[in-house]
Amino acid sequence: MTQELTVQLADQKREKPDQANLGFGRIFTDHMFMMDYTEGKGWHDARITPYQPITLDPSAMVFHYGQTVFEGMKAYLTKEGRVFLFRPEKNMERLNRSNDRLCIPQIDGDFVIEGLKQLIKVDQEWIPTAEGTSLYIRPFIIATEPFLGVAPSKNYIFMAIMSPVGLYYKEGIAPVKILVENEFVRAVKGGTGEAKTGGNYASSLKGQEVAAQKNYSQVLWLDGVEKKYIEEVGSMNVFFKIDGEVVTPALNGSILHGVTRDSVIQLLKHWNVPVAERRVSIDEIAEAYRNGKLEEAFGTGTAAVISPIGEFLWGEEKMVLNGGQTGELSKRIYDTITGIQKGAEKDEFGWITEVPVSELK
Ligand SMILES: *Cc1c(COP(=O)(O)O)cnc(C)c1O
Repeated sequence: MTQELTVQLADQKREKPDQANLGFGRIFTDHMFMMDYTEGKGWHDARITPYQPITLDPSAMVFHYGQTVFEGMKAYLTKEGRVFLFRPEKNMERLNRSNDRLCIPQIDGDFVIEGLKQLIKVDQEWIPTAEGTSLYIRPFIIATEPFLGVAPSKNYIFMAIMSPVGLYYKEGIAPVKILVENEFVRAVKGGTGEAKTGGNYASSLKGQEVAAQKNYSQVLWLDGVEKKYIEEVGSMNVFFKIDGEVVTPALNGSILHGVTRDSVIQLLKHWNVPVAERRVSIDEIAEAYRNGKLEEAFGTGTAAVISPIGEFLWGEEKMVLNGGQTGELSKRIYDTITGIQKGAEKDEFGWITEVPVSELK
């Protein structure tokens, strides 16, 4: 698929936000990347346009049956003023896997990456410069056919919007408290847990709300059948260090294929730290804790990279890890991955794609 990409620049540039208070996902850049899909014609009219509201028919299928997918990635500014993307081809691969599950047509990953690079170039002044900040990129696809029948839509819109984001943890990485979820489930094998689709998030809100009322920041999701095996933490993949070995739940059909997850596994193998992808039960974790062998636990995802876990509450049992402090290995992984992303560490794995931009300071 070779497509043209047209560029329509905004008449006015909006004021850039205060970098000390970026937060996450409320501020958007001047432009966005869009393309349309029409059955019989494929993806067409790829364009960079000013960031603006879109008009949809109220009967557009996405509003009714949730046929939608998304991705989350970041652009990082190095000290030298270069702009890096982290493994964007993995996001495109996953977008197409999500598309397949949701009966949405495949996109041309290479073309979309080119479009994203153009978009970043156009909005390069929006990449924040302060320590720990980055430009979050949100590609997504929605079903737009005006039709209330339950069937795959014949029309779609692809969009990518961008948001300058702050450091996830203001005081560096800080451990969070996690409630083990015994009632609600996020996903089941055969369902859509492997796809990055809005419905998974909608169904996770309730458990999250209950946890927040109890002062826990996220939930630990167990499998949907036996409620015994660990799947994910919040909207992150999860890792445990038990007696020197790192274990993470194997991808079983209901766990999202995290790019950060994959990167952590590669890194640990490279460091000769024993790492296993297998089934991990909550009983095993509690048993390891009681025997003093549960050394560290952390979540992984693009937003926070590494989110150390300081405490689990499972029913009546409270497990405090590492005195509630960030573990040594968690910190080392965090420093290495963020170092590669910012160009401060050597990219030995070929994870970086550079975005050609004119000189930034
Ligand atoms: C996006 C996501 C992750 C993390 O994936 P990354 O590619 O590492 O950002 C993990 N779990 C869920 C449910 C997700 O949606």
